[in-house]
Amino acid sequence: MRRIVNTAYISKIEGTPTGVWCTQFSVDDIMKLDIAALYALAMENKGKTIAPVKSPKAQRNFVEFLCDQHDIRHTVSNSIDYMVNRLTEATSSIKPMLSISSEYIKPPRECIIKLIELSIERGHSSHEDNKVIAFELINAGWSDKDISFVFKSIYNEPAGNWGWYTNDPNKAGSKIDAIRAKGINRYSSDKLHELKVCNDKHCGCS
Ligand SMILES: [Zn+2]
Repeated sequence: MRRIVNTAYISKIEGTPTGVWCTQFSVDDIMKLDIAALYALAMENKGKTIAPVKSPKAQRNFVEFLCDQHDIRHTVSNSIDYMVNRLTEATSSIKPMLSISSEYIKPPRECIIKLIELSIERGHSSHEDNKVIAFELINAGWSDKDISFVFKSIYNEPAGNWGWYTNDPNKAGSKIDAIRAKGINRYSSDKLHELKVCNDKHCGCS
């Protein structure tokens, strides 16, 4: 197991340590030192370990890459948790229990996804837009957490008393709870056109 840090390299031929240790280097070390200096450090084995740098962007890129590998559609408004759940479903032979029977689950429509992305870009959405988004995502079987994430991404500020999300990422806003309790259907395509949420006659939202 040569890749475990601070362990000796074992010669494959002789089966004995070569005097070189598996050593972590920082990016600075690699940029500044030449190969002889790096080799000398590896012989010393100072036993230091460097904590990994955790990058949310790298994490997101990685999860998006995995989604692409599994043909899972994703957009900027999907949370990491949402994508990981979809990945778990796609890669697991045991299907998770869903709170809504899957025959009632309707994936969010293209024009609603565009509305969400536009709203996040603008940092604002109207009360009517929020209803459209909430009905759509609830009917798509999204969790409270993922719906909250969408609204939080739009407003990017403390939740206040508006009811679309709360400051607790796991807890839905009061409006979301109320819509769930009433079991309201998502908007019809006609209604979306009337509200000018959808301006495309050929959109597949009907
Ligand atoms: Zn549409």
